[in-house]
Amino acid sequence: MTSNLFTDLPSNLPDKLFTTLLEATKLRIERIVSEGHSSSQGFWYDQDQNEWVVVLKGGARMSIEGIVKVLRPLVCNETGALAGVLATTYESSGGSSDLMSDEALQHTIREILSSYSESEGDGIHTFVGNEPDEVIVQIKGSKLAISVFSRRWDGPSSLVVHPIPIATLNWRRIPFDLLKTELTSLIETARKIRRSKFRKCLKCGDTKPPEWMHDEQTCQSCSGAIY
Ligand SMILES: [Zn+2]
Repeated sequence: MTSNLFTDLPSNLPDKLFTTLLEATKLRIERIVSEGHSSSQGFWYDQDQNEWVVVLKGGARMSIEGIVKVLRPLVCNETGALAGVLATTYESSGGSSDLMSDEALQHTIREILSSYSESEGDGIHTFVGNEPDEVIVQIKGSKLAISVFSRRWDGPSSLVVHPIPIATLNWRRIPFDLLKTELTSLIETARKIRRSKFRKCLKCGDTKPPEWMHDEQTCQSCSGAIY
């Protein structure tokens, strides 16, 4: 196998393809390539070893005791370095009746964000949180979406907000306590991802969001380029 994980992919995949990359006494690293494969109905994985999975491309769904977790890659830069994230979707309420009201949900989001701006339009309630902007939380009916705040250039002088979604929850079906915990951790994850993209300009020493960097080392103000 070559050094690139994305090479040597079969064009035709009747079964999941497992390739062992490294094997040691207590560790095995393998590449798994699958295409719409799933375990058979009623089958549950129950194994002795621990397993840690990172999705590099595409997506996967895992059902763990009634909670469906959606695994997918989020950030994969040019060098192939990866910041993976676990997005979670709940499909069952676990039978609890202790659910959150609309007002309670909004209140909880305000509490978690501490500093934020809030807007409403097209049936979507949007919170943009923290200073500088790091996370976007949107409520549309029973759907709650958490995204990493991001901007991109849409033409030479137009910078548009471009949220990168990390999770969608059907919040009306999730018990209050669980929803609050999950939301807190997802917002924290989104903030960390946004902060991880900030770069320090080697000329002025300021830390800037990626859209204001000219290249890896110089911000746009210091680059001398005209935007
Ligand atoms: Zn600078």
